[in-house]
Amino acid sequence: MNLPFNYTKTKSHYVQYHNGETWEQGHLQQKENLEINPMSTSLQYGQEAFEGLKAYRGQDGRVRLFRIEENAKRFIRSVNFLHMPAPTVDMFIEAVKQTVFDNLDYVPPYDSGGTLYIRPYMIGIGGQLPPAPSKHYLFGVVVMPVGQLFEPLKPISLKVTHFDRAAPNGTGSYKVGGNYAASMYAQNEAKNAGYNDCLFLDPRTHEHIEEVGVANFFGITNDNTYVTPESPSILRGITNLSLQYIAAEEFNMDVVKRPVPLEELNAFKEVGACGTAAVITPIEKIATDEQTLTFPEATNQNSVTAKLHNRLKNIQFGDETPPKGWITFVN
Ligand SMILES: *Cc1c(COP(=O)(O)O)cnc(C)c1O
Repeated sequence: MNLPFNYTKTKSHYVQYHNGETWEQGHLQQKENLEINPMSTSLQYGQEAFEGLKAYRGQDGRVRLFRIEENAKRFIRSVNFLHMPAPTVDMFIEAVKQTVFDNLDYVPPYDSGGTLYIRPYMIGIGGQLPPAPSKHYLFGVVVMPVGQLFEPLKPISLKVTHFDRAAPNGTGSYKVGGNYAASMYAQNEAKNAGYNDCLFLDPRTHEHIEEVGVANFFGITNDNTYVTPESPSILRGITNLSLQYIAAEEFNMDVVKRPVPLEELNAFKEVGACGTAAVITPIEKIATDEQTLTFPEATNQNSVTAKLHNRLKNIQFGDETPPKGWITFVN
């Protein structure tokens, strides 16, 4: 089975409306499309926030969610920043569980390389002209079986871009649709130049590494320290958070979060991108206008990156014991 990383219709998706005063009862809808007013704030002004996580089928047939509470908390943070009514952590988790349970047949089998991608989202709906918060909202969850975005552990190449995906004190740390629209031109430019993705620098000084396209960046130094950039405009990835934990608590590595100057890139023996969609991908080449750096360890199957990848994957698919609280069963 070789699933693409793309949208396909499944049995149902979850919808729950907020009428300006309270949440209405949520339900699973089998009709594929939504009907919303063309003057909805989500469509006209980008009042949209979302999450991305996956359901994994283990060898035992059971379906697992990975650190869903972290997604719930991040969603509430994003939703609040866009001045939308936030669901509770429990509402979020229940909505995801219900949707995955109703679509269990679509969770790919263990060992197929596939997972069920889960997309919770919130949009401002209802017609209005002023660019102000909407009165009406929809909280929804869509699920779809996917293959891998990048082949596991297949190295990628990056081009440092001159564009910014978010402002220094703007929306960068929130998972909102507008950040993605704002990164498309830069990503496309890198792809047209023959790279897999672009590397964003911090929007204030353009001296520090920020994010890999729409995934987090990490590097491993020669003395085995896990380093990941700190900046107010970086999205705090749950994959990255989990790798930091595994590195520190299980692999006995030092973990450091700090601004990472672009000039320091050659101090890393390994560099990589991580996120729910990208999983963990080694980077073998990073080009600026002036020079191209290469990372030969990217193809080493015994690299630290590969070991982190294998541990994470074995937790997610239920092959190894997870740290406490990381896995939620759906069935
Ligand atoms: C979602 C996202 C990530 C990865 O976060 P995970 O929780 O690991 O999936 C990284 N960067 C950006 C910009 C994102 O939107």
